[in-house]
Amino acid sequence: MIDKILLNGKDISSDIKKDLQGKISNLYKNNIIPCLATILVGNDASSETYVRMKGKACEKIGIKSKKIHLPENITTRDLTDLIGKLNNDSNVHGILLQHPVPSHIDERITFDTINIEKDVDGVTSWGYGRTALNLDAYPSCTPAGIMKILDTYNIKVEGKHAAVVGRSPILGKPVSNLLLNKNATVTICHSYTENIDKILKQADIIIAAVGKPKFIKGEWLKTGAIVIDAGYNKGNVGDVDFESCDGIVKAITPVPGGVGPVTIAMLLKHTVEAAEKQSLNLFNR
Ligand code: NAP
Repeated sequence: MIDKILLNGKDISSDIKKDLQGKISNLYKNNIIPCLATILVGNDASSETYVRMKGKACEKIGIKSKKIHLPENITTRDLTDLIGKLNNDSNVHGILLQHPVPSHIDERITFDTINIEKDVDGVTSWGYGRTALNLDAYPSCTPAGIMKILDTYNIKVEGKHAAVVGRSPILGKPVSNLLLNKNATVTICHSYTENIDKILKQADIIIAAVGKPKFIKGEWLKTGAIVIDAGYNKGNVGDVDFESCDGIVKAITPVPGGVGPVTIAMLLKHTVEAAEKQSLNLFNR
């Protein structure tokens, strides 16, 4: 029987924020106020909460939060025009269009309108591609946060079998690329995958990104596995059945307090880096 270690995302998040303080002060000294523009379309309650949380986190550490809330019926054209204006606004360093947008809007076109230097959440095709190729880009914040957790706890990735459950463009796919770039052997599972339990049984590291509460059961996992639960479902429940992992896994992220806080901290970090790089013209494309 092994005791599972809790991978504490709150602590990692506060360390990242502490590290950012000096950088933000330096930017201020040079008359640069790092600024993240968030765009929310429509009135989805969860999206409103996410955007509010991100704005608050920015303001708490001295990043300006420019909140833009647009009506549900805005057109793709009007949205891309607005993003174009933000691209050209030198006082805005990061742009975050909250996913999902209403279905009549072409989300891919709107994402891809974001200038890569301001794409702090890795949503553009170009940013995603560059992340996959291990080139300079801001990876999507949740995948970046997951890698940060593994790194902080000195969890060896190289040579390990990582199984990612989920293949969304903002989470499953980019985290798979990041793991591959760190020399893991990666299996990506999705809704068509057969015998997920048998695949997970062989994995040293499991990334849960399914969007289904308590989907992954402890009995599917190998003894001593490391579990990163990126899931966030109603009632503060992850994608992993946390209790059933007792005595099986070596370490696991709690929900809440695991991946969530590190994701937000990575957004702040990317925004500060974007402000630094834009002021010094350092983005390497
Ligand atoms: P998503 O776009 O809905 O993608 C879910 C993925 O899970 C899809 O690739 C889907 O496969 C796969 N899937 C669905 N049912 C499955 C099944 N029965 N077996 C295997 N795979 C299955 O979700 P997402 O945006 O990636 O988010 C995933 C989770 O992470 C959600 O709980 C979300 O709330 C959470 N999240 C957390 C944060 C954070 O900051 N902590 C940030 C973003 C998301 P197909 O591709 O075949 O449909």
